[in-house]
Amino acid sequence: MMQQDTIFAQATPQGYGALGIIRLSGPKTFNFLHKIFRFSDSKKNFETLHTHTIHFGHVFDESGIIDEALLSVFRTPKSYTKEDSAELTVHGSPYILKRIALAMVDAEIRQAAPGEFTMRAFMNGRFDLSQAEAVADLISSHSDASHDLAFRQFRGEFSSRIKELRKELIDFTALIELELDFADEDVEFADRSRLLLLVNNLQSETKLLIDSFALGNVIKQGIPVTITGRPNVGKSTLLNLLLKDDKALVSEIPGTTRDSLEDIISIDGITFRFIDTAGLRISDDVVENMGIERALQMTEKAEIVLYVADLSDISVEEIQNDLDDLKQRIPSFENKKLIVIFNKIDLLQEIPHGIQKFLESDTIFISAKRRENIAMLEEMLKETAMNRKTEDGVVVSNTRHYEALLRTNQALSRVENGITEGISQDLLSSDLRDAMHHLGSITGEITNDDILNSVFSNFCIGK
Ligand code: GDP
Repeated sequence: MMQQDTIFAQATPQGYGALGIIRLSGPKTFNFLHKIFRFSDSKKNFETLHTHTIHFGHVFDESGIIDEALLSVFRTPKSYTKEDSAELTVHGSPYILKRIALAMVDAEIRQAAPGEFTMRAFMNGRFDLSQAEAVADLISSHSDASHDLAFRQFRGEFSSRIKELRKELIDFTALIELELDFADEDVEFADRSRLLLLVNNLQSETKLLIDSFALGNVIKQGIPVTITGRPNVGKSTLLNLLLKDDKALVSEIPGTTRDSLEDIISIDGITFRFIDTAGLRISDDVVENMGIERALQMTEKAEIVLYVADLSDISVEEIQNDLDDLKQRIPSFENKKLIVIFNKIDLLQEIPHGIQKFLESDTIFISAKRRENIAMLEEMLKETAMNRKTEDGVVVSNTRHYEALLRTNQALSRVENGITEGISQDLLSSDLRDAMHHLGSITGEITNDDILNSVFSNFCIGK
């Protein structure tokens, strides 16, 4: 019903720019455009415009001409939404764009909701739900790896894997349900040992996808890094330094709030996320225990731990104690990459005796204050990231997909137990349907308003 509307939204970011684009979509796109756009060639008219053509003219409202404009025409079904669509390209002035938006509203064109263009594209069968979600990921991709991941999902690699898995289940469920029709005759159309084999295969496939989420999440969000160490060793100074170098780049990521940007850096296309560093900014006189607990929790989630020590005020035993303490209290510490950073080299003539023993592990001497050896530290971070295990094949990066896969896997375990225990066909079929349901919710073969709303409300307006 909603799709009867014709909608518009600004497609370019807010603020000043060389160009600003307003897009429209819906069955009445070209009827409405009459009211705000005039061709410079008076022989042209909206009825006879061909798809994928561009026309010069101007946009006007009641008070007169607002701007010159190029009108791009996309006729159904050859548009992003598969509906009649158009784009008006004008000068990128917030004033001009606002006046055009008001003129649109006067012309009874409705302002689009977040993600509404993409939702229409999904509804009209341009792509499935997981591909639609990849559009948002593409827009917010911030590194080679996250772009690659989003693009592969957009191209449908993940969807086709899920659809294949689901197809196998559908075929078998049909057989089981056929048995239900012949319940009195005690027949078995679906070979139970083959079903068990299939279920086990599906379990390991979904398990692989579930496991890939850890990697997918890291690619999407950045490799989690934490900075730890005693008060006043220079942790905040170092963090600010690392972040500042990269601020310009990350602040251009659209659709991301400043808050979540604050602790992200990108080194040669690899994203690092400094986790929970808000704790660092708490002044040093917070109750020490709280500080320690918090530091430990941060370290737990991190993949790379930067331990900072003050080279000018140091005891090897203290550092060794700190590191032993971390090792003991963080169960997965062995799997993490530890880099020991000796800060404040500017205060010393030479490296104190006894420090050399740390040179065995990954160690670096820096001065955060004088920006010495910071590039070297960045290089170390980059190398650590590149040495991580990377996987080809399908990687799950979306929390919604991850949860659906977990539920699929649980349903499959119930099917597995059911077969072994010889439960009735109707119970078996209900668990199989459950697994199919969750797989189908990923690609949108099974969907409802709640799922759609939560997916598309995360989009920006205009996409
Ligand atoms: P944090 O408590 O570990 O976060 O330490 P801060 O970053 O707040 O730094 C504590 C003090 O050490 C501040 O006065 C910094 O200016 C100073 N500091 C940080 N890095 C260096 C450095 O490389 N050399 C010198 N001389 N002082 C530094």
